[in-house]
Amino acid sequence: MAKAYRVKEAFYSLQGEGAQLGRPAVFCRFAKCNLWNGREEDRATSVCNFCDTDITGTDGQNGGIFSDANALGQHLLNLWPNGLGHQYVVFTGGEPLLQLDETLIKHMQSLGFEVAVETNGTLPLPAGLDWVCVSPKGASTVVVTHCNELKLVFPQADCPPENVAHITADYYYLSPMANPADGSDKDIIKASNTRSALQFCLQNPKWRLTLQAHKHWCID
Ligand code: SF4
Repeated sequence: MAKAYRVKEAFYSLQGEGAQLGRPAVFCRFAKCNLWNGREEDRATSVCNFCDTDITGTDGQNGGIFSDANALGQHLLNLWPNGLGHQYVVFTGGEPLLQLDETLIKHMQSLGFEVAVETNGTLPLPAGLDWVCVSPKGASTVVVTHCNELKLVFPQADCPPENVAHITADYYYLSPMANPADGSDKDIIKASNTRSALQFCLQNPKWRLTLQAHKHWCID
């Protein structure tokens, strides 16, 4: 039986972070993560406790349950502006590698898409991806050891940059934490974390600063 895919939401927008900043893409946000179950009451005891995304259910914009790769592929293709080239799809989540497989990757490529994934790195990569962004979270065990882009939310007590020194990448980014788990004022914490990340990059030039530009652009 074909595999069904559970999608929280999907939309056409611009990439707001990292090396593909500003690039038009269809984003496919899969439901569920292996580092947090999405329940607020379990956040503090989860491996990842600062998630700022609703990862439960399939009720977001253009979300749903898709019976197989053909059905999801057609759905995502319909979100790309008709007739325009440079098709690019970013699978994110939740943790996309709970669902993204070689069948779906190949199918998206047969429809003309370059295929990217944004993963927490705790699950093995399926073959054939065109772009891999790994963003380690908390005290999780990261099994992906090479990627195009390593994006570390900073600072993380359980995951300082030295903990990911074994991961090689084409680009290394620090992304200031914007959603403190302890409920502190987000704006103040974000400004302070941005200053800390900036200082870290100045002292460790392998790393570059990336900010969540889509929030400034007021887009998804
Ligand atoms: S790993 Fe990502 S999707 Fe999962 S809980 Fe953390 S921030 Fe959210």
